Amino acid sequence: MCNDFTIEFIGLSSFTITDWWKESESHWVVQLDPTTHQVDCPICFKRSSNHARPGRRILRHRHILGWGDVSVCVPIWRQRCDHCALTFTVEWDGIPIRGSVTDSFRQLAVKQCHGRDLQSVPRELNIRYSTLERWYYTDAPRGLPDPAYHAPPDVLCMDEFALRKGHRYGLNLMDARSGHVWQVTSGRSRSQVRAALQAWPFVSPPQVIVTDLAPGMADTVRSIWPETTVVADKFHVFQLFGKSLEQKRKLSTFRGTQHRGRHEQRLLHKPMEQLQETEQDELKAWLASDPGLKELHTALQEFRAIYADENPERGVRAFERWLRNYLYSTSAAVRRIAKTLIQWQDEIKAYFTYPL
Ligand SMILES: [Zn+2]
Repeated sequence: MCNDFTIEFIGLSSFTITDWWKESESHWVVQLDPTTHQVDCPICFKRSSNHARPGRRILRHRHILGWGDVSVCVPIWRQRCDHCALTFTVEWDGIPIRGSVTDSFRQLAVKQCHGRDLQSVPRELNIRYSTLERWYYTDAPRGLPDPAYHAPPDVLCMDEFALRKGHRYGLNLMDARSGHVWQVTSGRSRSQVRAALQAWPFVSPPQVIVTDLAPGMADTVRSIWPETTVVADKFHVFQLFGKSLEQKRKLSTFRGTQHRGRHEQRLLHKPMEQLQETEQDELKAWLASDPGLKELHTALQEFRAIYADENPERGVRAFERWLRNYLYSTSAAVRRIAKTLIQWQDEIKAYFTYPL
């Protein structure tokens, strides 16, 4: 590491660096003191005088991956107002009055929660999971940019997420094109989804919203935004097939004790044309021995081809044809998928106009 910390690196510009030391191999402490000695009273804005300096606080400030922590050591100042005699503790910019981390550390932690394996964040930053969760739910909505300065997104993605499996669920409203998160709310029940849409920070609702296949989701959206086109999220549509294939794979005995392996997953889940020739032969032999699995696999292959079609009208026609062919399939698993897809057919057809 460099021999000197600069205040630009620390980023708390109302301070100067008066000392720094190494606490351990991966922990630096930078001592800060305010650039000004004059503090105004928070009530009457008149001058105040210092009457006590009961020590210092050390707060975690930055964490640099593979390198370590930088903490800041800031003074505690007790002041008395010369005018109204109020006594108060000085609140430094970027330093919360309580707690053991700076605002910037907390923001960094919350930012890291977006779009990654959230369990790894507390581990990496060495903070408690429950602390991170609390920060996330209070700060993530506040950290979002002000809608007043932005055009409303026309295509929105509604994403359900849990910071950790089985924990509190939340809902993200995200610009589908830029990936920009506009709103974070907690809960995923119908009333919570409704409340989330009602809290949408823009005047105009989006033209299109992409949602998962949660029961009643499309109707819930339409009850708030009747003009918005609901599109079924492609990922969740294919997940229906994926889950079914996995169930069938585990029941399929043809491949003996090997049937739980990764290789078998690869054979079944990869598009046929992406498999090597020997793998294709292997798969064909397997499917020939298991008609139910074969039916499901064929249905998926055909469904993939429909989604790959770039012509919207042809896509819709092919989808309707697929439904007619598989709604009365010999395989119960395929019939079940077809029934779900029928319930979502408007939202699936909308995909062909808005391939998101
Ligand atoms: Zn005062």
